[in-house]
Amino acid sequence: MSTPCLPIAPAAPATRRTRQAQVAWGSRVVTVGGDAPVRVQSMTNTDTQDAIGTAIQVKELAIAGSELVRITVNTPEAAAQVPYIREQLDRMGIDVPLIGDFHYNGHRLLQDYPACAEALSKYRINPGNVGKGDKRDRQFGQMIEAALRWNKPVRIGVNWGSLDQELLAQLMDENALRAQPWDAKSVMYEALITSALESARFAQEEGMRQEQVILSCKVSGVQDLIAVYRELAKRCDNPLHLGLTEAGMGTKGTVASSVVLGILLQEGIGDTIRVSLTPQPGESRTQEVVIASEILQSLGLRSFVPSVTACPGCGRTTSTTFQELAKQIDDYLRAQMPVWRDKYPGVEKMKVAVMGCIVNGPGESKHADIGISLPGTGEAPAAPVFIDGQKALTLRGDNIVSEFHQLVETYVEKRFGTQPAAAEAA
Ligand code: SF4
Repeated sequence: MSTPCLPIAPAAPATRRTRQAQVAWGSRVVTVGGDAPVRVQSMTNTDTQDAIGTAIQVKELAIAGSELVRITVNTPEAAAQVPYIREQLDRMGIDVPLIGDFHYNGHRLLQDYPACAEALSKYRINPGNVGKGDKRDRQFGQMIEAALRWNKPVRIGVNWGSLDQELLAQLMDENALRAQPWDAKSVMYEALITSALESARFAQEEGMRQEQVILSCKVSGVQDLIAVYRELAKRCDNPLHLGLTEAGMGTKGTVASSVVLGILLQEGIGDTIRVSLTPQPGESRTQEVVIASEILQSLGLRSFVPSVTACPGCGRTTSTTFQELAKQIDDYLRAQMPVWRDKYPGVEKMKVAVMGCIVNGPGESKHADIGISLPGTGEAPAAPVFIDGQKALTLRGDNIVSEFHQLVETYVEKRFGTQPAAAEAA
């Protein structure tokens, strides 16, 4: 075995190198790109005409941790409700910017509903369906004009499901003239990136500042998204919104989004992320926010909630106590965060371990801020608790779960309760 001459370097996400956009409403601002933390974004699935229902879902998404929320603005009736939705959120004290998602008629809606244009904090423009032929530049220009009038950033959001067909046809014609034509996929990649960059250039020619033009090129294949964003990041320094479009449902959507966002974020690509998960019937819309937050937390890019380290369990523990405790602690910690975030600054970085037996239980618990090693099959019915790496006490009897719960509360109060509030850069 050779002797290493250098210590092993820790892995860390590469530095992002984009400009910084300001997404504002009133005097409040969420920064995107530059030195801002990677932001979590989400989108409602309510009918925007239902202002109360939409405001409630925006509130749920914001409380779950979404820092920007996009809403559909597809009809005059929906546009008319946008200022009212903003008003409801302000009344409820929900500090989150609203992004208007426009397709086909955004130029008209932004012109005809100035209160909507004002209430939104950012406009999403899809260059693939802003208009065809000579209407395209005019209608795109009208949307940029509204952004300039109301001082809003835009996201030029290209999607391969609605790619600019005229541009694609043009690139295919050019490709046919190449001595060695590219394959169809490469032409598609090029069309996605060209659509975003050409639209950004147009917006800048109309007067938009580059940093106020956020770009995205969404596709639904993991390898396709990696290829497109690597190239997009090379060719521009606009802030980038990242997400796998139509990720799918449940495990498939979660895994695919986690894999692709993890790879790109590790390479320093992506300033806002969205996990476009199809909710399971009856599942909360907030699941996409939870997953996006977990992706950022897993990579060490952000901390949102204290993390619970729990072993998977095996034949050494046939009781479900540790599974129940891990679940209860996780649910409890998440439920506390809306209050704890301000009351206990830094608590989001806390690590809690809930382990199933003596094999890895004490070791893993010592690595956590507070951990418990529950007894496995055949072990004495005792659960040592470790606090800050030291064995603090041993719990016994039928109330281990509630007693550990109390120990966590006491630890949080003692460790994080006396610090001065430290607000994260908005
Ligand atoms: S800590 Fe014990 S119960 Fe948990 S997975 Fe490891 S050996 Fe199994």
